[in-house]
Amino acid sequence: MHDVVIVGAGPVGLFLACELGLAGCSVLVLEREPEPRSPWKANQLGMRGLSAASVEVFHRRGMLHPLLTASGVHDDPGADEPSRPRGVGHFAGMMLDPAKVDVAALPFRLPAREGVMTNLQAVESVLSERAAKLGVEVRRGVAVSAVTQDDESVVAQAGEHEHAARWVVGSDGGRSAVRTLAGFDFVGTEPQFTGYVVLATIADPGKLRPGFNLTPTGMYLRTPAEGYIGMLEPDGGAFDRSQRPTREHLQAVLRRVSGTDVTLSDVHLASSFTDRAMQTTTYRQGRVLLAGDAAHIHSPLGAQGLNLGIGDAMNLGWKLAATVRGYAPDGLLDTYTRERHPIGAWALDWTRAQAAVMKPDPHAQAIQGVIRDLIGTRDGTTYVFDKMSGSSFRYDLGSEQPLVGRNAPDLRLEDGTRLGDLMRDGRGVALDFSVDRCLHGSATGWESRIRYVAGPARNDFGSGAVLIWPDGIVAWAGDRVPDREAFERAAGRWFGSPEI
Ligand SMILES: Cc1cc2nc3c(=O)[nH]c(=O)nc-3n(C[C@H](O)[C@H](O)[C@H](O)COP(=O)(O)OP(=O)(O)OC[C@H]3O[C@@H](n4cnc5c(N)ncnc54)[C@H](O)[C@@H]3O)c2cc1C
Repeated sequence: MHDVVIVGAGPVGLFLACELGLAGCSVLVLEREPEPRSPWKANQLGMRGLSAASVEVFHRRGMLHPLLTASGVHDDPGADEPSRPRGVGHFAGMMLDPAKVDVAALPFRLPAREGVMTNLQAVESVLSERAAKLGVEVRRGVAVSAVTQDDESVVAQAGEHEHAARWVVGSDGGRSAVRTLAGFDFVGTEPQFTGYVVLATIADPGKLRPGFNLTPTGMYLRTPAEGYIGMLEPDGGAFDRSQRPTREHLQAVLRRVSGTDVTLSDVHLASSFTDRAMQTTTYRQGRVLLAGDAAHIHSPLGAQGLNLGIGDAMNLGWKLAATVRGYAPDGLLDTYTRERHPIGAWALDWTRAQAAVMKPDPHAQAIQGVIRDLIGTRDGTTYVFDKMSGSSFRYDLGSEQPLVGRNAPDLRLEDGTRLGDLMRDGRGVALDFSVDRCLHGSATGWESRIRYVAGPARNDFGSGAVLIWPDGIVAWAGDRVPDREAFERAAGRWFGSPEI
C-alpha cells in the first residue's frame, strides 16, 4: 500500500508528488494520458504566467534555474532589492503600466523575484524529472474511475487495477473524476462568456491590434507569436463546448469582438473555455483530498489557476507528509481547507469582477471607465499588481505580528545566504537574528523537521527571530529578544512534539 496515490500528473499533482517524495513518503501518481507531451502544453498554447510567489517556490526547492532554462528565459529575475516589475499584465483586458507600481508601498513583496512566462510543458518536465529523482512512480495511460474509502485506507480503481493508499489526492483537473466519485459539493456561478484560444493562419493580421484589447463587444488578444489569438465573447456561455469550434465560427467570433472583417484562412488548433466559477465547499472528505483545478475552476482572467494550484500543493504537501509520518499535531491536515479555501474563493471573485466589467452593457462600460481611471493612478496599479503577484495573501494564524501568515520575503543573512537557499530539503526554518542567538538549542528535538540558522539579517523586518513552515509561510515571529518558550510553543503547534 502506498502512503499517497495522486490522481493526475498535471503541474499540481506533480508538484505535490515532489513535496511528498522529498519528505520520504511513498507516492504513486496515476495519469490518464499516455504521453506527457501535447501541443496544448507547448509554446503559445501552453503559455502560463507564474506569479512572483510561485517563482519563489521553485527557487526554494532548487528548481528555478531548470525551470527558467526549460522556459527559454535566460536571465534570473533575482535582485537584491525590491525592484519595479517589468510587466504587470491586465485587468479585464485593460493593460497596466509597470512604471506606476509603487514598490515602496509593498513592504512584504518578495524582494528578489518577479513573475515569469513559462509553459505547461516546461513546468511539467522539470517537475517530472524531480519526481523521478525523489522515487515517485508515475503511471501513465491510467484513468481512475472509482474511489472508495474506509477508516484505514482508500482505494483508487483504474481499469482492472485497484491502488490502495492511506490517502488519495485528486489533482485531476477542472472536470475531476475524484471530486465527483468522493462526493464533494462543487458550487459557484454559471458563465457570462465563452473564451477561445486559437492557433490560426490570419490572412490580414494587421487588422488586429497587438496585446489585450477590450472592445464594446468582448475582448481579444494578439500576441507577438504569429497566429496565436485569444478571445472572449460575452454570450452567456452559450457556445456548445462538446463540439470543436470550426474555422467559420472562430472567424465570426473574432470579427464580432474585434469589430473588423479579419479573415482566418486556416485554423490549426483551437479550444474553448468559459468563466464558470466553481469551488468545492471543502478540500477534504475523509482520506480524499483535492488540489488545483479539481478543487476550483474559474476563467484564466488574471492568470491565477496554476499559481493557486501550486499554492495548494505547497500548503498540503508538508501537512500531509507530517500526517503520514505520524508527527502531525492534531488538526493540522484540516488547516489545509481553512487556509487555502479563502484564497481560492478570492481568485474566483477576482475573475468574476473582471467578467462583470467586460459585459457589453452600458452599466459595465461605465464601470470600465472608473477602473481605467483607477488603474491610471499609482495606487490603483499597485493594488492590482499586489493582488496578482500573490505576495499580499495572508493566512489567519491568530497573530497580529505583520509577518505571520505571509509568504516570507527572501530574507538575507549578512553572509549573503538567502532564506530560499535554506529550504531545499523541505524542512521548516528557524532564523535567529538576535544578537545573543537567544534561540540557540531551542530547536533541539525538531532537527529532522526544523533547520536552525543564526546570524544577523540584512533586513529582519523588526523581528529577532522567525519560524517558517516548509512551504515558506511565516508561522511565528519573535521580538528583538525572542522568547524561547514562545518559540517552542509555536514549534510544537506546527511541527508536533519534539523527538526525545
Ligand atoms: C487559456 C488558459 C490560460 C491560462 N493561463 C494561466 C496563467 O497564465 N497562469 C495561471 O496560473 N494559470 C493559467 N491557467 C490555468 C492553469 O492552466 C490551470 O489552473 C492549471 O493547469 C491546473 O493544473 P492542475 O494540475 O490542477 O490540472 P490539469 O493541468 O488539468 O491536470 C490534470 C491532470 O489530470 C489528468 N486526469 C484527469 N482525469 C483523470 C483521471 N480520471 N485519472 C487520471 N488522471 C486524470 C489529466 O490528464 C491531467 O494531466 C490558464 C488556463 C487556460 C485555459
